[in-house]
Amino acid sequence: MQKESNIYLDLKYGNRNRVFNQIREAGSISSSALSYELQLSRPTIKQNVDELMGMGLIYESGTFGHTGGRRAKAYSIVKKNKVAVGIDLTKNHVTTIVIDLSGDLIYEKRVRLAFSQEDNYKRELGRLVEEAIKAQDIENDAVMGVGIAVPGLITEDQQKVFYGEILKFTGMTAEELGKYIPYPCRLYNDADAGGYAEISQSEELTDAFYISLSNNIGGSILIDHKVYKGESPRSGEIGHMTVLPGGGECYCGQQGCFEVYCNATILSGQYEGDLAMFFQQLDEGEEKCRAIWKEYLHYLSIAVNNIRMLFDCKVILGGYVGAHLEKYMDELKRLATERNTFEDNADYLRVCKVKKDALALGSALPFIHEFWKTL
Ligand SMILES: [Zn+2]
Repeated sequence: MQKESNIYLDLKYGNRNRVFNQIREAGSISSSALSYELQLSRPTIKQNVDELMGMGLIYESGTFGHTGGRRAKAYSIVKKNKVAVGIDLTKNHVTTIVIDLSGDLIYEKRVRLAFSQEDNYKRELGRLVEEAIKAQDIENDAVMGVGIAVPGLITEDQQKVFYGEILKFTGMTAEELGKYIPYPCRLYNDADAGGYAEISQSEELTDAFYISLSNNIGGSILIDHKVYKGESPRSGEIGHMTVLPGGGECYCGQQGCFEVYCNATILSGQYEGDLAMFFQQLDEGEEKCRAIWKEYLHYLSIAVNNIRMLFDCKVILGGYVGAHLEKYMDELKRLATERNTFEDNADYLRVCKVKKDALALGSALPFIHEFWKTL
């Protein structure tokens, strides 16, 4: 995983916190380097290093230097001291991941499992989590929690789906879904999880709008490395922006929603759900694919330009389609620029960095990031 942003080295946190996060970022570091980097005295460093060792969060991982005299001890964090589990739950699949105290991915498994509200389904979720923990030989009390990304809108306390038309599971709670998961569970809106994973990996960015172009469309507003939830809270629901008044019918009951024209099944549906096959055929110049793609980019350019006008920030394209977009960015940028009132380019557009497991990752990372702050 790429380096996390430096926000956790902020002066507003205490010295123990800063020492921990410096060791985490460095991977392996000596006391004198810690003292230099953090501008703290040697005794202060020693006191905090001793405390962190006592908590089992760091260990002596080796020594530095080889030119006579005493070698300096190297410190590293105990990565499996704390872990978090992320689950990405969709209509037909479940992805389970585990990340360690560094935020690094240490386990990933995707299985085909059709969503259902039956007990068997919940039991299987519990089994998948247990399997993930056992595979990594992790102590049960090291698991801080399980974040579950779902295609639905989630209450502020992250315990209930208050709009779940896609899976027809409005009213589902974290407690029900996690009935067989022996750890604290939280729900996440899928696009918000994807956006959070993305902004966590983008050191130079503090604000952005993330679009999840998967079998459904979602969006996430990221301000100062956090998801802006809105008052309802259902911010960023760009899937239901109107891009064609009186247009095609959306599952939400409205007409002409962005969702209708740019969800990934518009493309993958041509090849029985095989999105990679669509792009392969497109590259080979298959005429029908080119026509579909042209219309897809047309509506996508309307949406991204609207977002740019509204937020004046970077727009990140993620989800299933985002992972294939790199090659077609020039074309999309050209179309978006044609609509732009103020700019003669669309360099605000980016393809997502996290191509795989973004939603599961974004549901697990908050547990780890919260822990980094609490020390
Ligand atoms: Zn709609």
